Amino acid sequence: MNDFTFTSPIDESQAIQKKHTDANFIAGGTNLLDLMKEGIESPHELIDLNSLKMKAITEEKDGFRIGAMVTNAELADHPLIQKKYPLLAQAILAGASPQLRNMATTGGNLLQRTRCYYFYETSTPCNKREPGSGCGALKGINRIHAILGASDTCIAVHPSDMCVGMRALNAVVEVQDKLGKRSIPFAEFHRLPGNHPEKDNTLKENELITSVFLPREYFPTNVHYLKVRDRTSYAFAIVSSAAALLLEDNKIKDLRIALGGVAHKPWRNDVLEKEYVGEVPSKKLFEEFAQAMLKDAKGFEHNSFKIKLARNTIVRSLEVALKGNQV
Ligand code: SF4
Repeated sequence: MNDFTFTSPIDESQAIQKKHTDANFIAGGTNLLDLMKEGIESPHELIDLNSLKMKAITEEKDGFRIGAMVTNAELADHPLIQKKYPLLAQAILAGASPQLRNMATTGGNLLQRTRCYYFYETSTPCNKREPGSGCGALKGINRIHAILGASDTCIAVHPSDMCVGMRALNAVVEVQDKLGKRSIPFAEFHRLPGNHPEKDNTLKENELITSVFLPREYFPTNVHYLKVRDRTSYAFAIVSSAAALLLEDNKIKDLRIALGGVAHKPWRNDVLEKEYVGEVPSKKLFEEFAQAMLKDAKGFEHNSFKIKLARNTIVRSLEVALKGNQV
């Protein structure tokens, strides 16, 4: 690990003023410290966000605002989040371990980096870690890698569960830098790798995530976050599916599916979802939806099994959601 200075600003404005290219914000540190220990990130300065006030969950006219420093545990355990956004609570509780959820923050979770083995193994080529060096996973062991939206330069997947839930719920990421504030729809926050896999998201160099806004689009009962993984706890998703249904007169009024573990960002097809509004829900309908959602999927040597697995995970998550599952 390189030497670095550690500063503790007293408020957001001071934190933003201190930020520069060689500095990283640090919140829970549950991913950044690993990256620093492995020599993948080597900031010269850490700007500690733990004294900042971004720790509230507030109900507003149009939805809920979650401060970037709210921990994953606080968010998942919040009674109103459990009541109004049970899908998000389920997704968070499917991730990591209780100890990690006590430390990890909402803002930090958005920024966690891929768990591609080659990204962490600095003796191998990796375009995300070192642009232009190649991709060790393309012809290597790629069992955990992408089946949707990959490029010739990177086939990594995004590791978060929380973000899959937020994508299904149309969350908005709120950020600030010296020039002002802006809001980024969740669909536009994480990127596909394209020719620049080193960029995980659309955050500008010195922007600070201040909060995440959840619009008042409640799915209070018919939701299910289904995570398929190699161990039953403390493992990243091989495939996950955040399913949400709103029903009216036994017909679909709204349907959402966001997938994790399959792409460089939480994967959703909003246009396809709309085609199913007004349909009567059934296993056959869910199978048709899953088939359509995976139609452009492409496997690599070790991960083609994920295509069928993703289809089955979608169908199962929708079947459980239909039954009216709650946290
Ligand atoms: Fe690096 Fe992406 Fe290739 Fe993994 S898949 S080795 S992160 S370029």
